[in-house]
Amino acid sequence: MTRKNQKYHLDHNTLSFIPVERNKFWKKRSLLQYVFVIAMLSMVGFLSLSQFRLTPHEYLLAKENNQISEKILSQKTTIASLRDSLKEVVENDDVIYRPFAEIRPIPTEIREAGVGGTNRYSELAGMEYSEDVIDLLNNFDKLERQIQVQNKSFDEVEELVSFIDDYYAAKPGIRPISRKDELFISSYYGRRFHPVYKRYKMHHGIDYAAQIGTPVYATGKGVVKAAHYQSGYGKVIKINHGFGYLSVYAHLSKYIVSKGDTIKRGQLIGYVGNTGVSTGPHLHYEIRKNNRTQNPLYFYIDDLKDSEYQKIVSK
Ligand SMILES: [Zn+2]
Repeated sequence: MTRKNQKYHLDHNTLSFIPVERNKFWKKRSLLQYVFVIAMLSMVGFLSLSQFRLTPHEYLLAKENNQISEKILSQKTTIASLRDSLKEVVENDDVIYRPFAEIRPIPTEIREAGVGGTNRYSELAGMEYSEDVIDLLNNFDKLERQIQVQNKSFDEVEELVSFIDDYYAAKPGIRPISRKDELFISSYYGRRFHPVYKRYKMHHGIDYAAQIGTPVYATGKGVVKAAHYQSGYGKVIKINHGFGYLSVYAHLSKYIVSKGDTIKRGQLIGYVGNTGVSTGPHLHYEIRKNNRTQNPLYFYIDDLKDSEYQKIVSK
């Protein structure tokens, strides 16, 4: 058997091939070449990473792994941006919406409350990307929980705000006659010397001197409790606004609403007169809260302009 690359020469005496002994220099040179080639190959292998030595299946797996990493990164970004948006909503809720509905902010420990335990996704442990995936799922769960808390808060605010809307629509809030029709206030709320009875007496309302036939408007939404003649008050309308409020319009010349009618704020209900115990044409206007009279001056919306008032009463 002959070795490859082995050189031979013909011995003319024996007529046989004799192996040629290599000299030391050539031996060294071949070794260097060998080392050089190995070095080059491993460099190429290193530079091209694993591609040259991966089977197609491994190559697909590696590609898939890359995609998973990218997906995880993009989900992390999504969670971060969702968390930012939610943070803004939560801040508005605690600073604007809930205070508006007159309810306290939700404590942070409730908003931040976690779900399940830390081992909720333990079956996913020990795999590639386990830590990232579990972290991602936990963050999604936390976000979901926080969104649930926020939605509950919105329901609460919505309910109370609709209640508040009703409350402010009903609560007496405007003057019963237009400023342009009012001649002067002939009597304020409080103790006074009564012009007819000639003694000090509590005056439970405010008297607007005005001409007979001046329109009188309901000061809040409600239901007519009475529209009848009553001694002292003369022709009087009483409106029940709910929430404990009642408004009274007395000494009228005429009423154009009846008991049981539903009334809007600003609706024309009758006209100024001089009926009952009265020393001249005027409107006696009264507000009662839980059957106790209140000073009507405290109920007017202070910064309501005449033009705005006219818009309310002409609806
Ligand atoms: Zn009066």
